[in-house]
Amino acid sequence: MVSSGKGFTLHRVHLHSSWVDGGAARHDSEGFGLYDLTVADGRIAAIAPSTDDSAGAENDMRRRVVMPAFIDCHTHLDKGHIWPRKPNPDGSFPGALEAVGADRMTNWSAADVEARMEFALKCAWAYGTRAIRTHLDSLPPQETISWPVFEMMRERWAGRIDLQAACLFGIDSARDEAWFDNLVARVKAAGGVLGAVTYMVPDLDELLDRMFRAALDHGLELDFHADETDAVEAVSLRRIAEAAARHGYDGRILIGHCCSLARQPDAEVLRTLDAVAARNISVVSLPMCNMYLQDRRSDGATPRWRGVTLLHEMKARGINVCVASDNTRDPFYAYGDLDMIEVYRMATRTIHFDHPVADWPKTVLANPARAMGLDDSYGKLAEGGPADFVICEGRSWTEVLSRPESGRIVVRNGAVVDRALPAYEELDRLME
Ligand SMILES: [Zn+2]
Repeated sequence: MVSSGKGFTLHRVHLHSSWVDGGAARHDSEGFGLYDLTVADGRIAAIAPSTDDSAGAENDMRRRVVMPAFIDCHTHLDKGHIWPRKPNPDGSFPGALEAVGADRMTNWSAADVEARMEFALKCAWAYGTRAIRTHLDSLPPQETISWPVFEMMRERWAGRIDLQAACLFGIDSARDEAWFDNLVARVKAAGGVLGAVTYMVPDLDELLDRMFRAALDHGLELDFHADETDAVEAVSLRRIAEAAARHGYDGRILIGHCCSLARQPDAEVLRTLDAVAARNISVVSLPMCNMYLQDRRSDGATPRWRGVTLLHEMKARGINVCVASDNTRDPFYAYGDLDMIEVYRMATRTIHFDHPVADWPKTVLANPARAMGLDDSYGKLAEGGPADFVICEGRSWTEVLSRPESGRIVVRNGAVVDRALPAYEELDRLME
């Protein structure tokens, strides 16, 4: 369908107002305009409104949606795919924490982490993802194992998937100052992001101060898991924003989950949103993992809330909002395959990214690119930019989001890529 030579034009593709600049074409009520997209030497040479001559031309895409390659700003490549050897015993958050901890201590050698990361990246590549941030469990001795593997993988995948990593540990571990300083040095040396899971521990503010001081001293960005719980008293999102203000920290901060915000009274919510909007904070919701873990009831009852945070209210205040994969086939989420179309489909259904769709597609495109500090070429289609995009089968939102899009075509650097997914069998040898 797409010619493999130096250049080609895709006629009559549907591009959405949230990812194409210019808007020279007329866009329909869903935001789609009909364009001809010309690729030369791996880049987008031209984006022009389709003309009557385009119909029936070679590579007439007949209104198929073309999306920019995806940006996945919150994943756990180090945990992925351990489910067959370490399932979550009861589907709960404590069950996940306990199971992952036990598996990490027993099985996470460099070879094990590498094999599972490689598998996950092959999947992300096949689905059309261009950049990923992963968290890396960094409790001793895992930080000495996973960070070198990550640096090797980043090198191996350079030019295909841009990789970033953030360290991950319960913030109470930062009480051990010597260990914390060592970890900061390791993260800095690897060009990583300083991250932690916040809990409502009594010394939370002091520990946050320690993290912000380290970030300022070493020029690091920050990434937190916050309030992944239904407990109304969990307000670490606001505590992080207040710490940023206290330290005058203007670097990028990405905060994931923030589930409890959806359970709090309006006055509390407004206070938190004010504090967050005042700083350089992006928020990422993880709808698949949240639906799986939140409101899991031990008495066989049905869950009653969705687990996701208040993205509509955040967006209305100008906060940069994203959605991402989070866990894949590990005790925190039994399913998932780093497919950002699946994530966007789930987000649409769970968080109501519709009526109107507006610019919600940016939550898997330009917004996470901004949260990760990637340049302007990420998450959009523009003349002169890289020809990195996904040709969907669907021609409208209802078509794109109703089927798995297993027939999508992924184009990277102007060439169609092999979309074969790795067989699960490849990991069997690790699951004994
Ligand atoms: Zn996470």
